Amino acid sequence: MTAVSDVVIVGGSIAGLRAAETVVRLAPELSVTVVSDEAHLPYERPPLSKVALRDPLELDDLVYQSVGELGRHGVDFLLETPALGLDLAARRVRLAEGELGYLALVIATGCEPVIPPVFTGLPEVYPLRSFEDARALRAAVADTSKSVAIVGAGFIGGEFASTLVKEGRAVSLVDMAPKPLGRFGAPVADTYAALHRDVGVELFLGRAVTDVGHIAEGRELVLDDGTRVRADVILVGAGVRPSTRWLEGSGLTLDNGILCDSQLRASEGVFAAGDAVRWPNPRFDAIMRVEHWTNAAEQGRIAAMNAVNHIRDLDGAVCANVPYFWSDQHGIRIQFAGYLTGDEELLENRNSDGSLFLYRRGLAVTGVLAFERRSEFVKIRAALRRENPSLRQVVPDVPDHEEVRVV
Ligand SMILES: Cc1cc2nc3c(=O)[nH]c(=O)nc-3n(C[C@H](O)[C@H](O)[C@H](O)COP(=O)(O)OP(=O)(O)OC[C@H]3O[C@@H](n4cnc5c(N)ncnc54)[C@H](O)[C@@H]3O)c2cc1C
Repeated sequence: MTAVSDVVIVGGSIAGLRAAETVVRLAPELSVTVVSDEAHLPYERPPLSKVALRDPLELDDLVYQSVGELGRHGVDFLLETPALGLDLAARRVRLAEGELGYLALVIATGCEPVIPPVFTGLPEVYPLRSFEDARALRAAVADTSKSVAIVGAGFIGGEFASTLVKEGRAVSLVDMAPKPLGRFGAPVADTYAALHRDVGVELFLGRAVTDVGHIAEGRELVLDDGTRVRADVILVGAGVRPSTRWLEGSGLTLDNGILCDSQLRASEGVFAAGDAVRWPNPRFDAIMRVEHWTNAAEQGRIAAMNAVNHIRDLDGAVCANVPYFWSDQHGIRIQFAGYLTGDEELLENRNSDGSLFLYRRGLAVTGVLAFERRSEFVKIRAALRRENPSLRQVVPDVPDHEEVRVV
């Protein structure tokens, strides 16, 4: 079969959903088809690592509210339908059952977990990306006699460690990096490590897993210094890669993501949004790929607006946003806004409400990271959205600002 839809969106998560909402709002006369390889309508991923183990994890609670409304507007969701290829010249997406033509295409296929070879083929090794992953992992840890180890101390690993600790469970967190979240600077990494250590998470930092072995009591990880860590259940949160294999040979430029211009255009009439995209962000004059929810939502909107504009022969808009993320661990909200190159000056301010870190290049503040300190963070994030504020503009929001010191 060859069907045609005015706008085809490949990927049915937050970027794809925001894209569909935007087309319906801006151009209700256009037909929209969302192609997703998952069995479910678009659902929230952030709760998958955060919902308490004692609470049920139900898909109905996670499916985005706007999905029903989109269905009533005629948006067609093709579920369990992987896109297999793209013919740019013919403007068609290849599916198992045939082809789907488009006037404009939005690609929002996100990322997929990377499982290091040492874990390949082993039972009770879990990624955490999809609803099914979360269900399987939660079922595995429900047996409280099993030990749990998490490989990767990033956000997914840290959040699930927190979810386990909340239930009084013991958990080990292993990371190759001596400083988890080290890209935000050593003081942030130390604060993050202390957050976990203080509630009893066993940290093994700067250690790689070289083997997985068995003893009478169960299974264990073997680390590169010979340390053995009990690990009947293993969550691997060791990073993700863009889901772009289906685009190989299509003519799009794939280089750690789909390379786009500042309008999120990958090719004539083809736009991309979310975790899978690398684009030059004029706000920071840098090419970046961002793996966070808010960026995916923002880009879904912009890519769809530009898809509609393309069909209408109008100019597109640039994506000049300030990357942002939040993470909830051990009752603490961690938030970041900005963009770092690694050569910033880091300033820190700690008080009984939490810790605030400012990143400065020359006189301009280019990023902020906070453990709690929510109202100050909101103000600084808002200032960053307008411009690169000076320290003088930002610091009045930080009480005891004379304590801000250069690290
Ligand atoms: C457990 C978890 C917790 C998180 N918590 C936070 C948080 O607290 N804060 C935060 O900022 N971010 C968080 N994130 C990150 C955030 O969820 C992602 O940045 C966001 O989901 C990216 O959205 P996306 O639409 O670009 O891609 P994805 O969510 O990866 O979705 C891509 C979709 O495309 C589908 N797909 C892939 N290939 C094909 C194909 N060939 N054909 C059809 N469909 C395809 C995939 O199956 C998937 O459904 C979390 C992520 C996870 C997994």
